[in-house]
Amino acid sequence: MNYKIAVIKGDGIGPEIVSEAMKVLDFIGEKYNHSFSYTEVLAGGIAIDECNTPLPQKTIDVCKASDAVLLGAMGGPKWDNLPGDKRPEAGLLGIRKALGLFANLRPAILFEELRAASPLKSEIIGEGLDLLVVRELTGDVYFGEKKRDGDEYASDLMNYSRPEVERIAKVAFESARKRDKKVTCVDKANVLETSRLWRKIVMDMAKQYEDIEMDYLYVDNAAMQLVVNPKQFDVILTGNLFGDILSDEASMLTGSIGMLPSASLGDSSFGMYEPIHGSAPDIANQDIANPIATIMSVAMMLRYSFGLEKEALDVEKAVQKALADGYRTADIATDTKTSIGCVEMGKVILENLK
Ligand code: NAD
Repeated sequence: MNYKIAVIKGDGIGPEIVSEAMKVLDFIGEKYNHSFSYTEVLAGGIAIDECNTPLPQKTIDVCKASDAVLLGAMGGPKWDNLPGDKRPEAGLLGIRKALGLFANLRPAILFEELRAASPLKSEIIGEGLDLLVVRELTGDVYFGEKKRDGDEYASDLMNYSRPEVERIAKVAFESARKRDKKVTCVDKANVLETSRLWRKIVMDMAKQYEDIEMDYLYVDNAAMQLVVNPKQFDVILTGNLFGDILSDEASMLTGSIGMLPSASLGDSSFGMYEPIHGSAPDIANQDIANPIATIMSVAMMLRYSFGLEKEALDVEKAVQKALADGYRTADIATDTKTSIGCVEMGKVILENLK
């Protein structure tokens, strides 16, 4: 079968890490007799430079005509002083909205081999960490009405409607069913009306999922619990703003932001797959970026958009073997003298797929 993939390499380390992930896809294609065809399109800073907009219409059209999107990262200091709607981040928010990708799945898994890279004490980690943040992606304060009166006043409106909460809660409940059957709903219902509605809807829906254990935490407590007792979590269900912050916190528990993939899904099997980290301009073009988050994103693409579970597991095992054999990029190395580069890490993972 031929799968059409729109590729947005983006800015900073984006082109380096996406190239390694595409080599993995090509290898999987050969090994399992699938064909992956790519159409490269622009978004983010490079699109501002070349097309004068962070999200050209052609990019949206090509993505919509594809089976999945592979994205590197967008942004960098070069574009930091542009007005909000002209910045690379507007491209990122815009593409999620244009493609109707309302559910962001961010697994945070601590590989046993990287236990030493986690800032948590060994007794807190116990036998390992494996949690999934399900973050709403197209609502909340990020998309509410924005106002600005020069340097004197600004406001961003936080809002959610019942259908928006119901569809993301469903994703969390269904995901938990395939995992350890526990959902922790994270909000700020002690202060925010939006959160009170969110929690009421989740409580209503929980009645249809009696097999799922529920917990409800305020976001400030959840942030603390992630570092003192992360093993209590299986699936964290939360809104756009809280999810943005908590998923980065969860990622650091696993050692490096360079390790973690994400999937953004809508109502169909179509999805966009990207590492959770940014464009890391500080290390761009030096061949030292960690490509694993992007390669693991490809594994999520194989699983969620193409239903190719065996192939997804093959990729994940190849990554795990690279770590078990002691290969490290600089961000996860305890001794940076022996670390390998982005291309070399890609080669090691490809070798493990053979
Ligand atoms: P960042 O994630 O790019 O970098 C944070 C730190 O982690 C840096 O020290 C970086 O070198 C390191 N890092 C990140 N990815 C790595 C990898 N694969 N391998 C090794 N080290 C890695 O976050 P930032 O510095 O806050 O943002 C940089 C730019 O990226 C900004 O313009 C920001 O807006 C943008 N950004 C984009 C996305 C996205 O496209 N999804 C997400 C977050 C930030």
